[in-house]
Amino acid sequence: MSESAPTRPEPGPRIGLTGGIGSGKSTVAEGFVALGAGLVDTDAISREITGPGGAAIDALRECFGAGMITADGRLDRAAMRALVFAEPAARRQLEAILHPRIRGETTRRTDEAFARGAPYVIVDVPLLVESGDWRSRFDRILVVDCPVSVQIERVMRRSGLARAEVEAIIAAQASREARLAAADDVIDNSGPPDGLAVQIATLHRQYLALK
Ligand code: ADP
Repeated sequence: MSESAPTRPEPGPRIGLTGGIGSGKSTVAEGFVALGAGLVDTDAISREITGPGGAAIDALRECFGAGMITADGRLDRAAMRALVFAEPAARRQLEAILHPRIRGETTRRTDEAFARGAPYVIVDVPLLVESGDWRSRFDRILVVDCPVSVQIERVMRRSGLARAEVEAIIAAQASREARLAAADDVIDNSGPPDGLAVQIATLHRQYLALK
């Protein structure tokens, strides 16, 4: 048997992917995955750790009481939304429970993707610009951009929400300008979906070259 330690692949670049609701983050992320990128979805992690038996459930029960956990063991999202809307301190407590766990799991999944041979990893973080502690964790910030009017149309079509509801969600997120100011790279998704492939392929080559 060889004495030498197993060689660990050097991790490649980590790309933080963000954009407003309906901008096309998930669509863009799929395009990168099709070219061989690794993908970590922080929204999915958040849903998992607050789902039945999830890693945050015990801490949430301890902090907010058993009334905030449903009979099948998941976070009662509607009740939690109402609470954090009424009490800003509750939002901070919620974030203090969720954020470290999401970050830890994101790191674990990113390392796993590199161990499987991904040349770089796209980390989908919907509220990257809103939560300052994410920025330093990435080599590049990639923003998917489109006008607010296009976001509204897409989300209404996808979700069936009323215009005012979509506008309220967008108003609670960072502005288009703030997001663009944080961007190293921008994908313009204001046009039809077939405008994405060339932009994704160009960035893919740049991300491979960062390695
Ligand atoms: P996000 O993940 O940023 O919320 P999605 O990728 O889910 O956005 O896209 C929002 C909706 O708009 C989806 O239903 C998606 O299929 C659609 N969509 C994405 N890009 C385009 C585009 N260029 N033209 C038309 N519809 C699009």
